[in-house]
Amino acid sequence: MFFTSTRSKCNIQSAAAIAKGLADDGGLFVPESFPAFSASDIERMIDMDYKGRAVEVLSKYLTDFTAEEITRCVNAAYTGKFDNEEPAPLVEVAPGMNLLELWHGPTCAFKDMALQLLPHLLTASVAKTSNGRTTVILVATSGDTGKAALDGFADVEGTKIIVFYPQNGVSAMQKLQMTTQQGKNVAVCAINGNFDNAQTGVKNIFSDKNMAAKLDAKAMDFSSANSINFGRLVPQIVYYVSSYCDLIKSGRLAPGKEFNVVVPTGNFGNILAAVYAKKMGIPIKKFICASNRNNILTDFINTGVYDRNREFYTTTSPSMDILISSNLERLLYLLFDCDCNAVAKLMDELKTSGKYTIPADKLAALRQEFYGNCATDDEAGNAIKELFGKYNYLCDTHTAVAVSVYNKYLAETKDDTPCVIASTASPYKFSPAVLSALGENTASNNEFEIVEKLSKVTSTAIPTPLAGLADKKVLHTTCVEKENMADFICNFLNV
Ligand SMILES: *Cc1c(COP(=O)(O)O)cnc(C)c1O
Repeated sequence: MFFTSTRSKCNIQSAAAIAKGLADDGGLFVPESFPAFSASDIERMIDMDYKGRAVEVLSKYLTDFTAEEITRCVNAAYTGKFDNEEPAPLVEVAPGMNLLELWHGPTCAFKDMALQLLPHLLTASVAKTSNGRTTVILVATSGDTGKAALDGFADVEGTKIIVFYPQNGVSAMQKLQMTTQQGKNVAVCAINGNFDNAQTGVKNIFSDKNMAAKLDAKAMDFSSANSINFGRLVPQIVYYVSSYCDLIKSGRLAPGKEFNVVVPTGNFGNILAAVYAKKMGIPIKKFICASNRNNILTDFINTGVYDRNREFYTTTSPSMDILISSNLERLLYLLFDCDCNAVAKLMDELKTSGKYTIPADKLAALRQEFYGNCATDDEAGNAIKELFGKYNYLCDTHTAVAVSVYNKYLAETKDDTPCVIASTASPYKFSPAVLSALGENTASNNEFEIVEKLSKVTSTAIPTPLAGLADKKVLHTTCVEKENMADFICNFLNV
């Protein structure tokens, strides 16, 4: 199995792609071709647990890893770290409407599905490619990636991790999760700016030759734990494959029959993993791409114009407050039949003018498989209330965006194909917004009072990792201007 860049031809194996994170030309690593599951592969996987299925999926891509290495990584990631025996349960909320709960990990958001595994894949990859060097993980986060990466990489031998988050762009709970992080190899820094500023800052530092030289002198290399890293993507394919197996196993779907997926989308990593699952033979009919008020993807899917020259809004679903969806580049690569020059040109246009347009035939091909729509904070709030009122099921604000968009899709198309909705966070990560959606008073300046109240009102349990935060000490308080991110890094690394 070989990987190439979305922007120019190259030829490397998975360990090098994971260790590097981003290609030298600024593009993203993509598989040269897709391995597929046969009907008998699927039949075997139906009887496996999540870890068994994960080994099957990973083995198809990480062909430069031994079977023992893959099994060791998967066991380390998913044993004892999740509050559920099955890390990604598929809950049938109503007939044909299944919520794929991806938030049973240590940080209560779907990022754990990949970021509990990535540190193991990455250290194994680095050992294969550049033994003895230290990997410095740089992360820009809209809230959930930061904590999940910190949790995954804290005190992992041979790594250091630096996380940047937008000072006013994450929930109180998300901020506390990050600022209380322990570990001798971790740094956490707020920036005066939004997520896109943080992400652009990190991308610039990645391609800064001067910084690379400084690190090299100390036997260090940068890598990424953002979803641009293929090592983040491959674990996400697993849960779509696994949900298909669970649908069949529970009799909710006949083998070979199609289902739709609905994904609350920000950086386009989660929904892209569903596209990759389909490429591997999982019968997904429509990819329903749900956005909040930052609806740049809705516009793109409906018009073929990607235009980031627009206002940026902060919403009650902060992990989707994004205007540059990095992983869309990987979809474009597929849409343009692996034409890296075409992709490089579009990305160049995006960089210089903040905008690009795809031709009509490509748009038609995109719309064949994709449906895009968006939900306001109020619409998401109504979805929370309705889901709880009708089905006694409590969901978070991001999942609510997906539910709301799914309802719009149903009303427009009458397509009653069974669906899997990605449920991406515990409602307790966004307690004030969830409680307010239920019509309760949220006047309190203590986040934990609101958490307690949510638990009382809904008779649901507070996840242990969040309850424990109340007693933790804040350890990270630095906030820098976005121009000064590099200085913060040099200071922490002592380079
Ligand atoms: C990151 C995140 C998303 C968006 O996922 P992408 O892969 O960036 O599209 C949605 N919901 C939650 C809770 C998240 O943490």
